[in-house]
Amino acid sequence: MRKPTLLKTLWLMALPVVDIAAPRLAVAADDSFAHARQRMVAEQLTAPGRDITNAQVLTAMGKVPRHEFVPEGLRSLAYQDRPLPIGHDQTISQPYIVAFMTEQLEPRPTDCVLEIGTGSGYQAAVLADLVAQVYTIEIIKDLAEGAASNLRRLGYTNVHVRAGDGYKGWPEAAPFDAIIVTCAPEKVPQPLVEQLKNGGRMIIPVGSTWNQELVLLRKHGDKLDRHAVLPVRFVPMTRQSQEPELSKPKSEQADQPSL
Ligand code: SAH
Repeated sequence: MRKPTLLKTLWLMALPVVDIAAPRLAVAADDSFAHARQRMVAEQLTAPGRDITNAQVLTAMGKVPRHEFVPEGLRSLAYQDRPLPIGHDQTISQPYIVAFMTEQLEPRPTDCVLEIGTGSGYQAAVLADLVAQVYTIEIIKDLAEGAASNLRRLGYTNVHVRAGDGYKGWPEAAPFDAIIVTCAPEKVPQPLVEQLKNGGRMIIPVGSTWNQELVLLRKHGDKLDRHAVLPVRFVPMTRQSQEPELSKPKSEQADQPSL
C-alpha cells in the first residue's frame, strides 16, 4: 500500500481542529448573550425593589433567548431594562413586566395557559418553559406568523399560535388554568372569565390608554376575586371588527386555525 503523501497527512491532522473550532465559535457567540441574560436576572429581576422570587420563573428568564425575539438590529439591546419595538407599532414588554406577570400567575408544570397578545412570542416562550401547554392569540397576522415560525425554529413544541381576536378567547382549548393578557381592554372580557377554570388565575391590564392597572383575578365558582397589583401601560386591546376586510359574510368570518 502506498504511504500517504505529506500533504494528505497534514490534511488529516488538520481535520479534527476544523471540526472542534466551529462549535466553539458558536458557543462563544451565544455565551456573550448568556452573560447579558444572567445580568438581566440579577439587576432587573431579583434586585431590591424588583423582588421576583419564584425560582422557576427566574430560571426560565435566565434561559429563554430574548435576543431571538427582537428585530436583528436591536439584538444588542435585548437584555436592557425596557420594552423594544417589534414592528407594526407593537412592542415586546420589558423583561421585568414579563417576569412579574408570569410570577403572579403561579405557573405549575401541568397547567394549560392562554395568552392574549402574542407579539414577538417571548412571553409565550417563557411560559412554555414552565407549564404544559400555551395557547396564544395575536390579532396582527404578520406578527402571529413571525412568532409561530420563530417559536418552531427555537424548538418550542408546546406553544400553539393563532391569528385572531383574543377578546373571544380560544373556546376549543378551554378551560384554562391561567390566562395572561398583554394588551389592555377597557374592561375584563367576559369570554375570558368564562374560559377560566374554577380556581384559575388571570393577569390583565385594564383601563384606558393612559390610565391602566394590572389586575389579578381569581375565579371561585361564579365569584371573581380582584386585586390591582401594579400601574402599567400596555398597548390597547384592539378588536378585529374594526378591520375593514372583516365586513365579510358571516360564513367567511370563522376563526383561523392555529399556525
Ligand atoms: N406578549 C408580547 C408583547 C405583546 S404587545 C411579547 O412577549 O412580545 C401586545 C400585543 O397584543 C400586540 O402585538 C397587539 O397586536 C396584540 N393585540 C392587541 N389587541 C389584540 C386582540 N384583540 N387579540 C389579540 N392580540 C391583540
